[in-house]
Amino acid sequence: MKFATAAIHAGQEKEPRTGAVIPPIFQNSTYAQTAPGEHTGYEYGRTQNPTREAMEKNIAALESGTHGFAFSSGLAAISTISQLFQQGDHIIATENVYGGTYRYFTQVIGKFGLNFSWVDTSDLQNIKNALTTTTKMIFIETPTNPMLVLSDLADIAIFCREQQILLAVDNTFLSPYFQRPLELGADIVVHSTTKYLNGHSDVIGGIIVVKDETLAEKFSFLQNSVGAVPGPFDAWLVLRSLKTLPLRMQAHAKNAGKIAAFLSDHPAFETVSYPDLPSHPQYELAQKQHRSSDGKSGSAGMVTCIVDSFEKAQNILCKLRIFTLAESLGGVESLVCHPASMTHASVPPEMRAKIGLSDGLIRFSVGVEDADDLLQDIAQALEGV
Ligand SMILES: *Cc1c(COP(=O)(O)O)cnc(C)c1O
Repeated sequence: MKFATAAIHAGQEKEPRTGAVIPPIFQNSTYAQTAPGEHTGYEYGRTQNPTREAMEKNIAALESGTHGFAFSSGLAAISTISQLFQQGDHIIATENVYGGTYRYFTQVIGKFGLNFSWVDTSDLQNIKNALTTTTKMIFIETPTNPMLVLSDLADIAIFCREQQILLAVDNTFLSPYFQRPLELGADIVVHSTTKYLNGHSDVIGGIIVVKDETLAEKFSFLQNSVGAVPGPFDAWLVLRSLKTLPLRMQAHAKNAGKIAAFLSDHPAFETVSYPDLPSHPQYELAQKQHRSSDGKSGSAGMVTCIVDSFEKAQNILCKLRIFTLAESLGGVESLVCHPASMTHASVPPEMRAKIGLSDGLIRFSVGVEDADDLLQDIAQALEGV
């Protein structure tokens, strides 16, 4: 089945009793047994729920995996990955990961004896230098937020195979429409479904996808043992949204490309970053790595640009009308954010300086509205800047 067909059909059979075309919301906590221990395969809602299963199977198919495990948030999914390990184990992670991931790894699970090295994973040599005898996993986010720096997943996967360590990839920024890490050799893919997968800014959720049976058994055990599962209605909303994932991702990429080109031509900006702009330092890698399953390259809807002062950034942000000033990303509506004071305020100033996240940086999450309206909105906000 091709991607767009799988997005609509994978994991979903007609409901057997009524023939309902869309899987029902099984809003229940428990299931009747005919005799003690004799059941339908469904015992208790934390362990099994048919609506959740349909969503898990659907995303697993889109990521070219075999098993999906849904969680109540992206962070719940990431925290469950960390529970594969034990005291003394070492993890190498992309230095500019999502702020909540950094906070969880350093301030929560770090207290229980997991050790972390934070490196710029865009250069494989940095990963090699950080490797120790206790390294068990490399955790990559590509492209990074908000700097849009890429890591070469195929190269890193070869290294992980040689060293027999796991490769986990946070694929939230591109969705499986534009990047499928398991096909490139990764072992674990994780998402905040809150972003592009759900795409309508009305659910918080997460998912893990794998294609290895042993890992699948471990995550099945952890999902049930830790218990950070989503409710049936949230699972159903994500499942509903996935049907339009290919259409939405194409529209996000098309609009973002136009906006990135417009910003690049404007004198107000020192830098404009979008992986599909030939000026992006890793343009070639983006062309290779960011590919839909029918061969089109594209980089979703995140565009960042830098003006030379906080005041200028603030001025632009306050004048935008269609772009809403808000955290989060990946929804059909366009958002804009000032990472230094909003999403990344908790990142220490030294770290922000190290990764180039200046006070003049503006991050656009380009939605699927009409591109002309979006361009006009930006143009009017830039008047006089
Ligand atoms: C939002 C986000 C997360 C965290 O997901 P939640 O659903 O908010 O818990 C993790 N990784 C990335 C890249 C994100 O953008």
